Amino acid sequence: MTLFELEFMQRALIAGLLTGLSAPAIGTYLVQRRLSLMGDGIGHIAITGVALGLLTGTAPALTAILVAIAGATAIELIRARGKASGDVALALLFYGGIAGGVLLIGLAGQGAATLNTYLFGSLTTVSPSDLYVVVGLAVVVLVVAVGLGPQLFAVCQDEEFARVTGLRVQLLNLLIAVMAAVTVTVAMRTVGLLLVSALMVVPVATAQQLTRSFRTTFMTACGIGVFACLAGIVTSYHADVAPGATIVVLALACFVVAAVTGALLRRRRSTRAPLADEEPEVGVPGPEPHVVTDEHPHAHSQRCGHPKVEHGDHVDYVHDGHLHAAHGDHWDEH
Ligand SMILES: [Zn+2]
Ligand SMILES: [Zn+2]
Ligand SMILES: [Zn+2]
Ligand SMILES: [Zn+2]
Repeated sequence: MTLFELEFMQRALIAGLLTGLSAPAIGTYLVQRRLSLMGDGIGHIAITGVALGLLTGTAPALTAILVAIAGATAIELIRARGKASGDVALALLFYGGIAGGVLLIGLAGQGAATLNTYLFGSLTTVSPSDLYVVVGLAVVVLVVAVGLGPQLFAVCQDEEFARVTGLRVQLLNLLIAVMAAVTVTVAMRTVGLLLVSALMVVPVATAQQLTRSFRTTFMTACGIGVFACLAGIVTSYHADVAPGATIVVLALACFVVAAVTGALLRRRRSTRAPLADEEPEVGVPGPEPHVVTDEHPHAHSQRCGHPKVEHGDHVDYVHDGHLHAAHGDHWDEH
């Protein structure tokens, strides 16, 4: 009997596949908004949610998602206010989440072993009913992340600009926070609550070493996430360690390889084209020049119908969630 025939391993691998897809998908937007640590905070708060489930005898996935969504909404509201005291408010929320969770799990009569399966994931605990929850939630996250991609991208790239183009910025920001909370619940059984944020951030940072356009970063990050999750789960089965740890270590190894490869590629590119007009910003998905004929049936103009916005010394056109500005014979994404 191979490990792929073991039923609990089949469930763990399916959960891992969906976690590997959805965590980097939402993570791409969080990283773009410079909110890389938001998933970490939500994960801390969700510990209290799991504990409430254990204490009251309800499914921990249900209580975790409710508390995580409440926590994510609070984080987003505090962040949107932008006050200096918001920093401290977030710290209180995160520490309260961990301390409250550990306290309640103790009261529920559960020990450190139970807590550990939620903090760092566990292969054997993905029950059939857990798997249904994971599949359902992951589908919601992926549909939103892909379906609302252009709008979410515009908000993450430049809030002010998105507001000018008539997008409901606050609502979309809240949607990203809530989707991050849902993803935390999806990832709870495989990478665990303390390491879930790593799976949202590390694959995205890895992809950014090699690609710069938003779409390719998004897809590369999901690919890296799936690889790290599946390989991490198989490794953790053989090594008999928590899957969360092996998944994150593998993701970090991918990052190191990509960072070295990316640096070498950039060096080669800059020696070959010393007069390139834009020095690529390392690690940040930024302007990527592309040719008009590929994706453009027309050159943007005053009358083409695409929303037009002044941007410093030039005009940008909103196009499929990208902001395009004419630059010589091609279009830059802004
Ligand atoms: Zn146009
Ligand atoms: Zn511009
Ligand atoms: Zn365009
Ligand atoms: Zn250019």
